[in-house]
This record gives sequence, structure tokens and C-alpha cells, in this order.
Amino acid sequence: MNFDGLPPLREVIEHYGLQAKKALGQNFLLDLNLTGKIARTAGDLSQAIVIEVGPGPGGLTRALLSHGAKKVIAIEKDERCLAALDAISQHYPGRLEVIAGDALKTDFSQLAPAGSLVRIVANLPYNVGTELLVRWLTVKDWPPFYQSMTLMFQREVAQRIVAEPGSNAYGRLGVLAGWRTQAQIAFDLPPQAFTPPPKVTSSVVHLVPRTEPLHADVNRLGRLTEAAFGQRRKMLRQSLKALGGEALLEKAGIDPTRRAETLSVGEFIRLANAI
Ligand code: SAM
Repeated sequence: MNFDGLPPLREVIEHYGLQAKKALGQNFLLDLNLTGKIARTAGDLSQAIVIEVGPGPGGLTRALLSHGAKKVIAIEKDERCLAALDAISQHYPGRLEVIAGDALKTDFSQLAPAGSLVRIVANLPYNVGTELLVRWLTVKDWPPFYQSMTLMFQREVAQRIVAEPGSNAYGRLGVLAGWRTQAQIAFDLPPQAFTPPPKVTSSVVHLVPRTEPLHADVNRLGRLTEAAFGQRRKMLRQSLKALGGEALLEKAGIDPTRRAETLSVGEFIRLANAI
């Protein structure tokens, strides 16, 4: 037994036949020190409803519960994991709700009662991680339905999320994350931390929504960043031709000879609002 009174995760994986499937982005975290560190990075959980994507055999889920999460709502696509998760639900009565389904088809804003303190915490499947983050960053209602997000990404993606203007990693993700949140890399995890190990280093990113981000239309900002960074080596008057080119840049008071990666988040918002 582990300190939480449940069997060690290796036994759980063997007992339920949970050999990792690559197509589901399954790289499991079995080290309790690391799952505990992620739970602590998420902040005070005692009043929180934690939404977890992809609990798998339940390592991080168990850490969240043993660190006092009021409730965890976990969405898992792999039906093989459900029996293992059910055993955790029984161990923590009323505190773990498992939804068998696809996170990409889930309306996250409806999972917890309105007014709840919601923290999203996940060791995300790499194949859907960026897509989910972009959805959470671009929800229509702001402040959003969550108070923080603590998420695992490949380090290269994490660097793009926290990137500052002027850096190679700065692009659409950095603009969206910088616009609506304060994002920082909390810590890195080497490939060996996972079973099976992925090819690259991973990072946990902690994002806290800004209470009053500048107003912008998400769709316009999306089109703008796509065009600007789609041709990041070109001057903006060229890359933004289809959106208004030089006239648009002048309207927003931005030098048309600049390149996308030199623009601050605030300048992107000004440009989006000028479209
Ligand atoms: N949380 C576990 C851990 O830390 O060991 C597992 C993390 S593993 C990187 C990703 C998990 O997400 C797997 O359990 C996988 O089955 C699940 N998953 C993959 N795609 C999903 C989707 N579209 N919706 C919900 N869960 C998904």
C-alpha cells in the first residue's frame, strides 16, 4: 500500500492491464513526489473543484485528493482506466467524479456549479494539449470559469506559452497566453520521470487569468496572429496584406516595416481592434 492507502501505481497498471497506448498520449507519472509537486503547484485545493483531463491510472488524481482537493472531476477517454479510477472514487467517497469521454468534446464551463473555485490540473495528452489550452484561453466569458491552470506540456510548447516578444519561441500561443493570463514555467521533468518515457523534456506551466485583460475580439486576434506569424520573417505590411496591410498598421500606429515577433501583446491587441 502507498501512504494514501491505495496500491502502488505499478500494481494498478498491471492489475487492470493499462499498458500505455501511444495514440492516446499515455506517458504515466508514477512518482509520488512529482505528482505531489504538481498538486502543490496548483495552489490551495481545499475549496477547489479540480478539473483533470486524462487521469489514466490515477496517479495525479490521487495526489490531488490526498492534497485536500474538495472535489476532482476527471475526464478520461480510455475506458480501460475506468475500473482503476472507480477504486479511487470509493476510497475518497463523494470527492471524485469520473466522466468517461473525450475532452475535446467536453464543455468545461458546465462541469462545476457556477461560482465554484475551479482549478484545471492535468498531465495532458500531448496530442490534444495545445488545442485544449487555446480553447481555455479563448473562452468567450471573462473572467473565465477557472481560477488557475496547472498543465504539463512538452518543454518546447511550454516555452512558446511563456515566450516574450523578441524571442524565437514567441508566436500565437505566447500572445494568447500573455493577453489573458500570467503564465510561468513552474518546473521541468526529464523523460525518465514518465512511464514510458517520452522523447523530450516536459514542463509544468502555471497560468492565472488576468482579471482585466485588454478588450479584443478572439476571432480577429486569431486571424491576425495566424497571418503575422505564418510569415514571421516578413515585414508586417506584407504578411498582413489580406487583413488591410499598411493602412491597417498605420491605423493602429504601428510601423509597417516591423516583424511579428517584435510586437508586444498590447500592440497585437491594438491591431486586432483596428481590423
Ligand atoms: N494523469 C495520468 C498521469 O499523470 O499519469 C495520465 C496522463 S497521460 C499523459 C494522458 C491521459 O489522457 C491518458 O490517460 C489518456 O488516456 C488520456 N486522454 C488522451 N486523449 C484524451 C482525450 N481526448 N480526452 C480525455 N482523455 C484523453
